[in-house]
Amino acid sequence: MKTIGIIGGMSFESTIEYYRIINEEINKRLGGLHSAKMLIESYDFDEIEKMQSKENWDKLTNILISSAHKLEKAGADYIAIATNTMHLMADAVQNNISVPLIHIAEAAANQIKSKGIDTVALLGTRYTMTMPFYKDKLKNEYGINVIIPDKNQQTVINNIIYNELCKGIVNKSSEDKLNEIIEDCKTKGAEAAVLGCTELPNIIKNSSIHIINTTQAHCIEIVNRII
Ligand code: GLU
Repeated sequence: MKTIGIIGGMSFESTIEYYRIINEEINKRLGGLHSAKMLIESYDFDEIEKMQSKENWDKLTNILISSAHKLEKAGADYIAIATNTMHLMADAVQNNISVPLIHIAEAAANQIKSKGIDTVALLGTRYTMTMPFYKDKLKNEYGINVIIPDKNQQTVINNIIYNELCKGIVNKSSEDKLNEIIEDCKTKGAEAAVLGCTELPNIIKNSSIHIINTTQAHCIEIVNRII
């Protein structure tokens, strides 16, 4: 088995899921007492979030590159960034390391294509929904049409992520609001909702359209690569 190096703590609620899903999947496939060979660099997310809100992307890029280096030096054969948002820096990270980066949007896109879906709604942080790095990748590299929730809906989703889900708070009223947004995107043509934030699967378990769980898709791809 190869070793995966995870850049995590964004948030810890998401990294917990990575640790659980990757290990459960390894054990399911290999049996016995097998578990994943994994290195985790886990940040203090408060520091990261403050830099995100100041749009200090250059500094964040350097931080992620230095973590990837550290993990590579410690023996990681592959690197994964355990958040959708911070894939804004994915190309810069990949260009500065000599091991492959396993990209979350590629894992998600492969799952979308395997279900024969052409049009998706993208739910995530305001950065993921509004900046081009994620939606353009789905559209330009995979031919997937992406519906972005409207401005008010973006604020609702972003607030639920940062004020609740990243702290482990799961409210029924927030689940209802997210489901209403997904239903609205369905009326606009979405065949699936991409949970493009790694904490969203902690609150959205099912829906009247397909759910693309990016945390799960990323973890499965990590397991495919390390064994
Ligand atoms: N984990 C979230 C994501 O997948 C949000 C936290 C972050 O800003 O990195 O985008």
